[in-house]
Amino acid sequence: MNKLGKYFLPILLFVIVLVFSLYAFDRNLNHIRKRRAQVFDVRVDQAVKEVKSRMNDYEQLLKAARSLIYVKDTVTKKDWREFVGNLEVRKNYPGIQGLGYAIVSDSIGIQKLYSRMKRTGYKDYEVFPNTKRDLYSAIIYIEPFTGRNLRAFGYDMLTNPVRKKAMETARDSNRAVLSGKVLLKQETRSNTQPGFLLFLPIYKNKRLPETVDQRRKLIEGFTYIPFRAVDLMGHLLRDYSDLKISIYDRSDKIRESLLFSSKENAEAKLPSSEFMKDTTVSIEGINWTMSFETTANFGSDYEKKQPYLILFSGVIISVLLLILSLLELQRRDQTLKELEFAKGLDKKKEEFIGIASHELKTPLTSLKAYIQLLQRTPIHEDPVRANTYINKAADYLEKLQELISDLLDVSKIAAGKLTMTKEDIDFDDFVKNVIESFKPTTHTHQIMLLGHTHALIRGDRNRIEQMIINLLTNAIKYSPGQDRIEVRLGKREKQVLISVRDYGIGIPVEKQQKIFDRFYRVESESHKFQGLGIGLYITCEMVKNHEGKIWVNSDAGKGSEFFISLPVVGTRTKSEKEAKSVA
Ligand code: ADP
Repeated sequence: MNKLGKYFLPILLFVIVLVFSLYAFDRNLNHIRKRRAQVFDVRVDQAVKEVKSRMNDYEQLLKAARSLIYVKDTVTKKDWREFVGNLEVRKNYPGIQGLGYAIVSDSIGIQKLYSRMKRTGYKDYEVFPNTKRDLYSAIIYIEPFTGRNLRAFGYDMLTNPVRKKAMETARDSNRAVLSGKVLLKQETRSNTQPGFLLFLPIYKNKRLPETVDQRRKLIEGFTYIPFRAVDLMGHLLRDYSDLKISIYDRSDKIRESLLFSSKENAEAKLPSSEFMKDTTVSIEGINWTMSFETTANFGSDYEKKQPYLILFSGVIISVLLLILSLLELQRRDQTLKELEFAKGLDKKKEEFIGIASHELKTPLTSLKAYIQLLQRTPIHEDPVRANTYINKAADYLEKLQELISDLLDVSKIAAGKLTMTKEDIDFDDFVKNVIESFKPTTHTHQIMLLGHTHALIRGDRNRIEQMIINLLTNAIKYSPGQDRIEVRLGKREKQVLISVRDYGIGIPVEKQQKIFDRFYRVESESHKFQGLGIGLYITCEMVKNHEGKIWVNSDAGKGSEFFISLPVVGTRTKSEKEAKSVA
């Protein structure tokens, strides 16, 4: 399977989960948007209903006041105060500035009003503005009669066109009518806010005239409520912080017509109002435009985040799945590699058994042949020949012994049971002796010993001898046709160095690392030379056991030089050296 094929499934899985998450995200986003739009519509309806129903309450209040006027022959200021006081207007009808009564009259009626006011203790009462006109209106009662409200006492509301329009519409229609935006007489210079008023007509003779003409003729005055828009709406719409609500007193949304805006800077567009809606509200004879925009508080936070949560989880899950499936692939690859490795090991083992049998069989066959020859030779008649056969048999026996002891070493190393008996060794002397005793085993090569260390090392004599002999045997074996082997001794820092140099076949660079592995033999050469591939492995393990190092410098075709370094534990003293040289 090529690389793309191998990763196809994990990538496909990743893409499927990702696409599915995107789809779920999109659906959820749409679903939530729809639901939020519905919630927005419901909230807008609620707010409109709230305002309408409150205005209706105020109309009922005015009607109650009118009933009082119709029931009593003359309503006094005290009556008015008690009526308003009993209703606990400020508590039960929050947001209104007061409840007033204004009469409508010609100039004669106004003069009568002055004398009546004087009689009741209001000497300074004056209808204002003080200009001459045919028809007057005058606020005669306004309760609570305190604070800002005193400023309106005596005001002629017909002199103001906005108020006049609402009063005339109320008069002609015999119903409660709201005025447009005004600045209430109650306003002082500080904390000024827009206002509006609700008027209910009162007709003479306590009648409810049928026609417009009759209504105009019989108009006696108005009960009315002045509203400060921000106070009223701020209270009424206090539970709508999720919406920015603006109210205009007509259909065009211009600054001049703005009665109320629930956010401080009414002009500023909110950066990202999710939903907006303008609605015309017919309310007490007038059309208001109520404008709604969602604010950051709109809807639940969780709801807003939900689609993104879904997307985020989807992405995380798909990435996790991708990682998991890649890990699984890696694990499978690893298992395959291990299987292949195990197969390779099996193969090697079989190869080894083949080679080992062959290596053991060769000296054994020769040994057997010489013993048979010896059996057929009369020792007393031909002792020289018999002796030659015995020596040959002994050589092959030794070879067999060496092979078997190498194999035993390998299994001891594997079991961690390679034992060492360590002692201090005079390194130079030791190497010299090993070489001298090795020399007679070769007739093809000359072994030269060069250099000295004067060092003492600590180690197992037999094992160190085995290391050196392994290197020498290899040097001879792998340099057929050459006759020179050089053994060099030297010292580097706190290590002795021994190297064995041959001028034989050498080892290709890429194989040099592996030659110290168990059973490894350089393949191209293995069929030409006998061997089990364990000599360097055993040597390397023994070097490690002595806390030393082994390495090789080699050029294929030019020969090899094997190095062993071992830690120095001391120096041979001068007297020892002299004693040796005298001896
Ligand atoms: P073997 O019994 O095969 O000689 P070794 O463990 O002693 O086993 O050596 C491992 C392999 O290293 C050898 O098979 C050979 O290919 C390579 N080798 C070892 N010594 C030399 C050398 N002096 N010159 C070239 N190749 C060598």
